[in-house]
Amino acid sequence: MPDRSMFSRRSFLVKSAAGLTAMSAMRFSPADDAEATDDASPQDSQLIDCHLHINHFDRSIEDTIRHMDATGTTQAFVLPLETGEGGVTLHSETVLHSFINYPDRVIPFCQTDIRQPDVLERIRAYHLLGCRGIGEQKEHVPLKDKRVEAVIALCDELNWPITIHFQDGDNGYNQGIQEDLEPYLKRYKQVRIIGHAQSWWANISADVPEGDLYPTGPVKPGGLLDRLMGDYPNLYADLSAGSGFNALSRDEDFTGGFLERNRKQILFGSDCPCRDGEGENFKGMCYSTQLQKFLRRMISDEDALADVFANNALRALNGTT
Ligand SMILES: [Zn+2]
Ligand SMILES: [Zn+2]
Repeated sequence: MPDRSMFSRRSFLVKSAAGLTAMSAMRFSPADDAEATDDASPQDSQLIDCHLHINHFDRSIEDTIRHMDATGTTQAFVLPLETGEGGVTLHSETVLHSFINYPDRVIPFCQTDIRQPDVLERIRAYHLLGCRGIGEQKEHVPLKDKRVEAVIALCDELNWPITIHFQDGDNGYNQGIQEDLEPYLKRYKQVRIIGHAQSWWANISADVPEGDLYPTGPVKPGGLLDRLMGDYPNLYADLSAGSGFNALSRDEDFTGGFLERNRKQILFGSDCPCRDGEGENFKGMCYSTQLQKFLRRMISDEDALADVFANNALRALNGTT
């Protein structure tokens, strides 16, 4: 018996692809969009958030733009999470919808279930619709799984970035960063891999306590992140969320050197679920506001700050060095 659910998924995609293309034909094409971004010369005031969702705490598209306005964010990589693993479900179509309404603010990424047999053709369709990368890749599948490799290889072919949530442990995502990330970096030189979340940031230190996703205290120099970012210029670090802030703030003496050594590969990002830049609906705090203050205090060189706030994000997006 034919798999009806697969059939309907495919026909929906084809129909929605045709609809979106027709709706947006006057507004953009992938080629025009890439050109426009390439030409943009980053200003000091530019702030690109490399990690933002829409449906966080039921936030609407308009609430998400309100968050960007309140935090001085000019553009954001808006990342879907189609399978909802981890608690937030956001469809790639919703991100494309936000891009059509706010083409100057939203840089649309796509993400779809890598366990489905049509994953690669869906991603190619999202590419044609104007998506600029994959992420957030966050499914309960270990990093060395061939299906993870297949989407990394497709990003390599499409000249795209991919944002990966690294979290070791039984209920984690892309487990195995210490053993299984470097082989991909050796094999795929074009894709930009953007590292995010707890196990990524635990590896800022050479000493990674097993089972502790938010280690505190002094960082032991010589960690995996310094080594891999030093060896592979297509590897980027996403500073967003509690994991990024915890890693940067646990040992400020170390952090100064870490930001300096990797200044071309560090991306400002928030992953913030709030609506107003003040955490009205989130513990009274905003990841974006908190991180901006911290980075302005830690980085005195204006050019280095512009790299972290915007230029590196454009490099990761476009594959330029
Ligand atoms: Zn996220
Ligand atoms: Zn916020």
